[in-house]
This record gives sequence, C-alpha cells and structure tokens, in this order.
Amino acid sequence: MRFYSTNNPQNTVSVEEALFHSLPADKGLYMPTPLPHLGTDFFEKIAGQSLADIGFEISKALFSDEISTADLENLTHQAFPFDTPVVDLEPGKTSVLELFHGPSLAFKDVGARYMAALMSYYSGRNDKEVNILVATSGDTGGAVAMGFHNVPGVRVSILYPSGRVSDLQEKQLTTLGGNVQAFEVDGSFDDCQAIVKQAFVDTELNAHLSLSSANSINIFRLIPQGFYYVRAYGQVRKWGKPVVFSTPSGNFGNLSAGAMVQQMGLPVAHFVAATNLNHVVPSYIKTGVYTPKASIATISNAMDVGSPSNFVRLAHLYGNDFDHFKENVSGYFYDDDETRVGMKRIYDQFGYIACPHTAIGILGLQQYLLDRNIDYTGVALATAHPSKFKPLVEDVLGQSVHVPDRLASLASRSKISIRIPAQYEAFKESLLHTVL
Ligand SMILES: *Cc1c(COP(=O)(O)O)cnc(C)c1O
Repeated sequence: MRFYSTNNPQNTVSVEEALFHSLPADKGLYMPTPLPHLGTDFFEKIAGQSLADIGFEISKALFSDEISTADLENLTHQAFPFDTPVVDLEPGKTSVLELFHGPSLAFKDVGARYMAALMSYYSGRNDKEVNILVATSGDTGGAVAMGFHNVPGVRVSILYPSGRVSDLQEKQLTTLGGNVQAFEVDGSFDDCQAIVKQAFVDTELNAHLSLSSANSINIFRLIPQGFYYVRAYGQVRKWGKPVVFSTPSGNFGNLSAGAMVQQMGLPVAHFVAATNLNHVVPSYIKTGVYTPKASIATISNAMDVGSPSNFVRLAHLYGNDFDHFKENVSGYFYDDDETRVGMKRIYDQFGYIACPHTAIGILGLQQYLLDRNIDYTGVALATAHPSKFKPLVEDVLGQSVHVPDRLASLASRSKISIRIPAQYEAFKESLLHTVL
C-alpha cells in the first residue's frame, strides 16, 4: 500500500511516511493506493464478526506487504477492545450504529486508537519521539488524549477553542497529564486548525521537533473508520435491502471513510451528509458550488466546521465529478431548534436518547427516506454518547441521562491547560517552552 497526494497522484509515499508526516508538501491530502477490492464473499461472512475481527481482516488486505499478520492482529485487537453495535429503532428500516462504546464515548476513539497503535508499532521499531499536534472542536481531543495517553515515544498537544466545548469534553483533554498537554485557545475551532496547519509548514519548528497530526487530516484516522461501516453492514445485511448510511458531519472525515470502503466494494446504496447550520457540503450538493465559510457555534459543537478539511478527499473519491458525488451523497441540515425538536421526537417515537449530533444523523436519514419514498435499510451513525451533552439532553428531554462511570469519574478531576490567544506565534513559543 502506498499513499499519493490529492494534488499530485504521481508522487507516492510509504505507510510510515503518510502516518507520521500526514500533510504532503504540496498541501494536498494523502489517499491510499491501490485500494483493495474486498470481494463479495468477504461481505457474506462478516455477520457475526466484531469490529476487531473485521478491522484485522481489512488491515491485512491493506497492509500485509508492510506489517506482519501477527503484528496486525495484535494492534487491531489492542485498538478495539470494544464493539460498534447496531441498535434497531424500526427493524429493517431505521437503525443507529453506536460508535460510542470506547473510552472517550465518541466515534473518534476508533480512528485515534488505531492510529496510536500503528504509531507505537513504528516508534517502537525506530526509537524516536513524536509530537502529535491536534486541533479539536470537541471530541477529537478526548479520543486522541486517551488513545495516546502513556504511549511510549509520543507526546500530544491538543488545541481547543475556549468556552466552546462541553465541560466533560474539556475534562477529557485537560485532566490526563503525563504526555498529554492541552492548549486552551481564545478563538474558534477554525483558529485552532489554522494554528496546527501553520505549525506543520514552519521549518524552524520542524527542525526542533518531529511533528505529526492526529486530526482527520491524517489518513490513518480515516481508514479504521471504514471498519465500522462494514461491521454495520454485517449486522443489517439480513434485511435484504439496499443500505443507506447517514453520517452527522463536520470535518467530513467520517463520511470520507464511508466513501472509501464503498470503493473497496462495500455495497452502500447511498450516503446522507447530515449537518448543523455549518452546511457548506449540503449547499454544495444543492448548487454545485463549494463555498467554505467561517464556522457558526451550535449545540452540536463537534460539527461546527465551516471549512471541512476532508471535503477534498470526498470529492476526490467521487472523481471530482459533481454528478457522481450527487448520485452517492444527499445533504440535509438542521438548526438548533430543529435539532432540539428532533431529539424530543426521536425519544418520544423510539424511546431512544440521541446526542444532538446523532439526532441530526437520524433526522437526515428519515428525511431522505421520506423524500425518496424508498424501502431501504437506513443506518444513522450515533457519533457520541448522550451523556457527553448531559445538561442539554436533559433540558430537551426532561429526562435524566445516565453517565457511564468512565465519564462520571472525570467530573471531580481538575483541569490543567495553557491558555493562549488565537495567534500562531503564541502557540509556538508556548509549545517549545513545554516540550524542549
Ligand atoms: C467529530 C464529530 C462529528 C463530525 O465528524 P467528522 O468526521 O468531522 O465529519 C460528529 N459527531 C461527533 C459527536 C463528533 O465528535
């Protein structure tokens, strides 16, 4: 397996290069080549397999020329001690794919933990320290912090927008200590992302530190996210109908991962790109014009992204062809009031408590099925556990929400962060100060 830049398909790099230097010099994004085709018999035998089993099988198809089967088996099982079950709301018609059974209670555990396992595999072989930089709009930070906490040879710096993440999300990134440092930025997620991007092209900084990204810019976050689409397909295939996935989206890593396994042969009839008011992709699908915007703060804050970095990948996977894109992806978006009403309706209708992001996914799915009037099996991705947004969910549903122990225990821990203005120089100085 090699990786090419979307800006220059002729130039390819190794797994290790794409893993540790996630941004190509030409400012494109890495994509895997050649994408293996998994074959129909693969999809026929997966019904009873866990996420780790499926992850291992696909990892072999992708990386067996680089990494031994025994090592791949080891690292996939290390990454996925939890599963991603499908829960039926209306059997055969509407289901949710629960991606929040990992340590940080959000789907980003899947990508972050697989990437951490791969990085620790390589850094153990090479004996070098890596500095991970990551910007988070909410859930990435927790998943990355927990995925990399105490991983030898890796230091993690997390940038998050001050006051724009929930209390528990903040605790997940600011209370671990050790090799994990949080930077609290007086600005938006887009500011955090811009600072990280600038760090990667800063030659002076790169001369001092070996920098790597754990954002969904890194293709190794996305590849394992494909595994759970396959896992879900294994669970809903029994209904014998075409399958549509609805993905609540912000930076569009999750949806790109789905499009990637579709290209590897997963029979996906259609995708729904469901967003909040940061709806540049649904607008693109409607108009054919792609116009990134400044991000708007919403109650589904992990999707507050005005300029999604993975749009380029998604467009690329559909041959940069608008009609082809549109045949495969529909867009729906919801404002905060609609999201609240939707959360309440989902609870009343199915007794299911959805976080605001998940609710947007379910709303998009239902709207799509209604608009097309088709008999498909719909799977909405449940991207976070509702207790991560406890005050909001309880306020909307008038119902108390159970907090799993691994999250509850964070509440009493104290936050440690370095507060910085939304300026690159301030970050750089502070990073060099903490790391060197
Ligand atoms: C990150 C996140 C999203 C958005 O995923 P992208 O891959 O950035 O599109 C949606 N929901 C939750 C809960 C998230 O943490």
